Amino acid sequence: MSPFDPPALAEYELSLVIPVFNEQDNLMVLHERLRQALQGVRAELIFVDDGSTDHSAALLRELQSRDPHVGVLRFSRNFGKEQAITAGLQVARGQAVILMDADLQHPPEMIPAMRAAWRDGADVVNMRRRSREDESWLKRHAAQGFYRLINRLSDIPIPDGVGDFRLFSRRAVDALNQLQERNRFMKGLFAWIGYRQTTLDYDCAQRQAGHSKWRFRQLWNFALEGITAFSVAPLKVATKLGLASALASFAFGLYFFVRALAYGDPVPGFPTLIVVVLMLGGLQLLAIGVLGEYIGRLSLESKRRPLFLVESYEPARSAMPMEERVVHAPN
Ligand code: UDP
Ligand code: MG
Repeated sequence: MSPFDPPALAEYELSLVIPVFNEQDNLMVLHERLRQALQGVRAELIFVDDGSTDHSAALLRELQSRDPHVGVLRFSRNFGKEQAITAGLQVARGQAVILMDADLQHPPEMIPAMRAAWRDGADVVNMRRRSREDESWLKRHAAQGFYRLINRLSDIPIPDGVGDFRLFSRRAVDALNQLQERNRFMKGLFAWIGYRQTTLDYDCAQRQAGHSKWRFRQLWNFALEGITAFSVAPLKVATKLGLASALASFAFGLYFFVRALAYGDPVPGFPTLIVVVLMLGGLQLLAIGVLGEYIGRLSLESKRRPLFLVESYEPARSAMPMEERVVHAPN
């Protein structure tokens, strides 16, 4: 199903998959620290350039000419981080794959610990950040609320504080590569595959340079994607709300009818009317909105468009263990 050739396994022990979108000021430092952390490991560094518009593409080309362990996959435009991760997982050839951000929030120095956990038999090594102190009050609380909500609604527990910094064993990667849905709520998918999962804690660093690409509107979309991908509970909520309000208005009506019979109707009853109309209107809109969210996603899924388009892919050329100094490849 993958648009790429089946990977030649076994040569690489580790594949690093790094989504890159306008990270020109981070790439060189990241590469340096990765090499330090990967001494003696047969590793490939796959940078997925998600349609960067700054100098990232040129820098990646330069890195690749200097370092035969670097592979660069470039999208035809910006498709989003989840797509970049998906593509990286498909081309990765390692016996284990590590996902990490390009902005050095995910410290490469944790790699040996992750590798050790995998060697001990874990299929998925989840990295949990110790605190969210560096994030704004709004983002922190929005995230907390979201995880509380999604964990009530969904059948599989989706942990808070565990982002896309993870290691996957080969069979976990193969499982992820089978998932064809468009709605890539990766956190959910990572939890969904199961296998032996373990969690390590790490200190999330400040972004090294540049700025975060997340906007509040994206967070809202992200939350909706997550909930609709992993739960149909909102559909049922609409039914229950509708039922409850219908019953309430029936009881209401009965009460007014009886009262009018007993005492007559002294006041025209305008306020109650407005309240009831507004309540019903609101509930109906809510229920329609919930339906819309799901139907919209159904229509997207049914188009079966590819998740991303690749402009070019130059895989890493060397499966030798990483050395201290960057070897200048004889081109
Ligand atoms: N990223 C990407 N495509 C996008 C947005 C972001 O590949 O459309 C990459 C980005 O280059 C970085 C990672 O995803 O390596 C995390 O992005 P960011 O730091 O902006 O998110 P945050 O850490 O604030 O959640
Ligand atoms: Mg970041």
